[in-house]
Amino acid sequence: MAYVVEHDRPNCIGCGSCCVIAEGFWELDDDGKANITKAEQLKNGQQRLEIKDKDLEIMKDAAESCPVNVIHIKDKTGKSIV
Ligand code: SF4
Repeated sequence: MAYVVEHDRPNCIGCGSCCVIAEGFWELDDDGKANITKAEQLKNGQQRLEIKDKDLEIMKDAAESCPVNVIHIKDKTGKSIV
């Protein structure tokens, strides 16, 4: 099953935790906020990336480390994982 990672980027505080935990999937941008690398950019500033099963655990770890809870993961049915 594939999963979808959603990032509420406008509310990211740029702590860098996700970038350390899931290096390669996340990076800090020049504006001090994180980006999901290769993410789809949505109009409202949100980011979205479909990931495979093998990447779920590292993305869950990143999401659970976020102090402002702006990283969410859903399965393909829309059920919230994190
Ligand atoms: S852990 Fe959350 S607040 Fe920190 S950089 Fe990542 S998305 Fe932003």
